[in-house]
Amino acid sequence: MQAIVKTEARPGAEIQRVAVPEIGPRDVLVRVKAASVCGTDLHIYRWDRWSERRIHPPLVFGHEFCGEVESVGAEVTTARAGDFVSAEMHVACGRCFQCRTGQRHICQNVRIIGIDMDGCFAEFVKIPESNIWKIDPAIPVDYAAVLDPLGNAVHTVLAGEIAGLSVAVTGCGPIGLFAIAVAKACGAGPIFASEPHPYRMKLAEKMGASVVIDSPGTDPAAEVLARTEGVGADVVLEMSGNPQAIRQAFQMLRRGGRISLLGIPSKPLELDLANDVIFKGAVVQGINGRRVFETWYKMQALLKSGALDLAPLITDRMPMSDFARGVELLLSGNASKVLLYPDGVPGAAGR
Ligand code: NAD
Ligand code: ZN
Repeated sequence: MQAIVKTEARPGAEIQRVAVPEIGPRDVLVRVKAASVCGTDLHIYRWDRWSERRIHPPLVFGHEFCGEVESVGAEVTTARAGDFVSAEMHVACGRCFQCRTGQRHICQNVRIIGIDMDGCFAEFVKIPESNIWKIDPAIPVDYAAVLDPLGNAVHTVLAGEIAGLSVAVTGCGPIGLFAIAVAKACGAGPIFASEPHPYRMKLAEKMGASVVIDSPGTDPAAEVLARTEGVGADVVLEMSGNPQAIRQAFQMLRRGGRISLLGIPSKPLELDLANDVIFKGAVVQGINGRRVFETWYKMQALLKSGALDLAPLITDRMPMSDFARGVELLLSGNASKVLLYPDGVPGAAGR
């Protein structure tokens, strides 16, 4: 099969012919219909310090996709050939404290398909049965291919109360933009968004942000405070990982509000804990992945309700062989979700 392979420990990736994965008795082989490029794939492509430590080439990367079940192992009972599926790509150990107490999204021994094992930038991908998510056929292929990052957004937005509350989203990459759409669908408002890139600022507006702040050009904390009579936002969703944005996120939170941190800073940073957390009585949450499968059920319900229009965020569609072009687009910031199709780009309806 054709696959995008990180062949060696250096920048770039190659399109190669590799063997179709062999499945074990509890595995499912999925024929990939559409895959989507994530920020993590950009790290792997560029070969940064994180990749050097974590990735062991050769590796077929990619972890956002949907497809059709091709075949199943002898002991598989819950999936069969022809099913329309995606998957939770974090494979939990099933044995650690967290796995045994209903928190497999923070498993101590998690392994990620597309990072620690061959992923979905290929014609076929192997998934353990326990990680398969069956997709309602009413959901279009293009949306089904982005359930992984949409799930990050749903998990973050719904990690506390949201309806009728003011929300600030710092960082409008794909996940921040999804979060704006989800918060709006769940009855939040007003929604403040901060982002430096003009293309993504426009998308934030399109997704339903009431106010889009050019950060760091304008101080977003001062702006949110000014627009909330000095009170601050009830809920802050940090989705940039940028140290300055993280500090501002704490400053724009109202006393007693909730801040949920999804963005990953590349190194430790300094915070004013006394003023921005303790005296504020802030509720601070770390957000990792998606709850398995609680977030998936909620996400599917939101999609089926028709309340989420994600079309503006699927900015580019191309054959999988154009992968390098998709990466360049994303690196320029002039894209949100780039979809790759192993069998060529389907018709405009995307179903
Ligand atoms: P992304 O890098 O595309 O988005 C980050 C956005 O933040 C960009 O649009 C960038 O322009 C913006 N930004 C940079 N500096 C800013 C500033 N000072 N103020 C406001 N915005 C600023 O990434 P993404 O794919 O949307 O993911 C968002 C973050 O979440 C990343 O840090 C990513 O590593 C992290 N992430 C976390 C998890 C998790 O499970 N916790 C999962 C996926 C991604
Ligand atoms: Zn575990």
